[in-house]
Amino acid sequence: MIFSEGRYQIGGVDALQLVEQFQAPLYVYDSATMLRQYQRITKAFDSVKRLRINYACKALTNVNVLRLFQRWGCGLDTVSVQEVETGLLAGFAPHDIIYTPNCVGLDEVLEATALGVRINIDNISILEQFGAIHPEIPICIRINPHIMAGGNSKISVGHIDSKFGISIHQVPHVLKVVSALGLKIEGLHMHTGSDIYDAQVFLQAVEILLRAAADFPDLDYLDFGSGFKVPYQEGGIATDIEELGERLGARFNAFCESYGRDLELMFEPGKFLVSEAGHFLVRTNVVKTTTASVFAGVDSGLNHLIRPMFYDAYHHITNISNPEGKLRIYNVVGYICETDTFGINRQLSEVREGDILALANAGAYCFMMASNYNSRYRPAEVLVHEGQAHLIRRRETMRDILGTQVELDVLKSASTPV
Ligand SMILES: *Cc1c(COP(=O)(O)O)cnc(C)c1O
Repeated sequence: MIFSEGRYQIGGVDALQLVEQFQAPLYVYDSATMLRQYQRITKAFDSVKRLRINYACKALTNVNVLRLFQRWGCGLDTVSVQEVETGLLAGFAPHDIIYTPNCVGLDEVLEATALGVRINIDNISILEQFGAIHPEIPICIRINPHIMAGGNSKISVGHIDSKFGISIHQVPHVLKVVSALGLKIEGLHMHTGSDIYDAQVFLQAVEILLRAAADFPDLDYLDFGSGFKVPYQEGGIATDIEELGERLGARFNAFCESYGRDLELMFEPGKFLVSEAGHFLVRTNVVKTTTASVFAGVDSGLNHLIRPMFYDAYHHITNISNPEGKLRIYNVVGYICETDTFGINRQLSEVREGDILALANAGAYCFMMASNYNSRYRPAEVLVHEGQAHLIRRRETMRDILGTQVELDVLKSASTPV
C-alpha cells in the first residue's frame, strides 16, 4: 500500500508535499521501483551465463533516468540517433548501446554507426546498402517471427502485416546478401510487441528465432526484445517473469550447448522497468455534475498523458487529498478541447475542487508522448532518489511554446484588409 498514515508516499516522500514544492501537473518517478524491477529481471535469468538487459529508453528518456540504469550496469536500447546521443551523454559506452530503428534512412544508420553503437537492421534494403559500405562492421538482424501477441493491435508488432523486422520467411534471402557481401552477423533480434503475458507464446517465438540462429555461424548474442507486461490494475494480468526466466533460461542454455558457444542473452524492456515507478499528479479544477455523470475536470489532459485515449489504457486513479472521503463515482477528464477522458466510472473518495489525483503506472510512454497541444506547457518531472526529491525537468514557459517559431516580418507590418 502506497498510503502510509493517510499520506500517499512516493519513494518515502509525501506526494502532496511534492505538489506544494513543484506544483501540478507533475510527473514523479521513484528510482527504487526501477531498481527493484531491474533486479527482478536479472535474478529471473540468473541461470544464464551471459545476460544483458538493455533499457528501451523510449519509455522514459530523461537523461537522469538513463544515468541510473547506466550505474546499475544495464545497457541501452535506442530507436533514434537522438536517443543514442542522450545515452552517450548519460555515460553509456557506445558498445553498450544498441540502435534498433525502424524505417529510418541510410543516413541516420550511418550517423549511429559513426557514434560507435551496435547496429540492428530491420529491412533487406538497408542491409544491402549498409553492407556495401561497411562490410567489416558486425551487425544484428531484426527478425519478425510472426507471432501474434498482445491484445492491442497498435502495440503488437510481430504479426504478419507488421512493418517491423525482416520476415522469418526471408531468412534465405538475408543469408544470400550476407554471403555475397561477406557480412558478419553478430546478433539476431526479435521484438514481438508490448503485451506478452503468456510465457508459452513467448517461447514459441523464441523457438522460431533459435531455428533461424542455427544458420548464422558468427553469432555473439540473441536479443529477445521485450513485451513484458506489468499490472495496471489490481489483479491485472502481468508477465510471470520468474516463470519465463526459468523456462527460457533452460532452453537458451541448451541451445548454446548445441551451437557450441556461450551466447549472450539480451532483453530490452521499457515498460517493465519504469512503468510502475511513475506517478502523475494532477489538480482538480472543477467538479461538474450533469444529468448523467459527475465529472472531475483536472489541470491536464491528453496533451500530457495520451495513453487512455490512444490505447484505451487503464491508469489507476486515487484521490490523494481526501483518502478517507465517501466513495463516489466519477468520470475523470482533462481540460483539452477534445474528448480526453482519463477514466470512466471510477470509484474515488469524494473529489473536491482543488484535490490532487494521482494516476499510477505513469513511468512508461507518458511524459514521452506529451505534447504542447492547445499551446499548453508540458509538465515538470521529479525524480525521488534515496529519499530526496529532485527536479529533473523544469516546467515550460511561453519561450518554449514560441521558441522555435519564426515570425515573418512581412506579416508583422500593418496591412490593409483585402
Ligand atoms: C519499444 C521497444 C521496446 C520496449 O517495449 P516495452 O513494451 O516497453 O517493454 C523494446 N524493443 C524495441 C525494439 C522497442 O521498439
